[in-house]
Amino acid sequence: AQAKLDEKDPQAVGLGYVHDTKKADTKKYPKHTNDQKCSNCALFQGKAADAWGGCPLFGAKQVAGGGWCSAWAKKA
Ligand code: SF4
Repeated sequence: AQAKLDEKDPQAVGLGYVHDTKKADTKKYPKHTNDQKCSNCALFQGKAADAWGGCPLFGAKQVAGGGWCSAWAKKA
């Protein structure tokens, strides 16, 4: 299995990534809402139901389907 992204990874911190979208820093990211998740982000490489999947922003590390970062973009 691929390695999972660490929330403390400097790149994760830089993008405000969290494994649980509900823990996103809403003061820093006021546009965040809890229905924004990696699993419904345009960049998520996994299937919508996958617990973990790839994200091109984090290379070989997998992100949580229920996670979030400030680069979230609505899946078309
Ligand atoms: Fe998750 Fe999208 Fe951020 Fe990647 S870009 S970590 S899939 S919210």
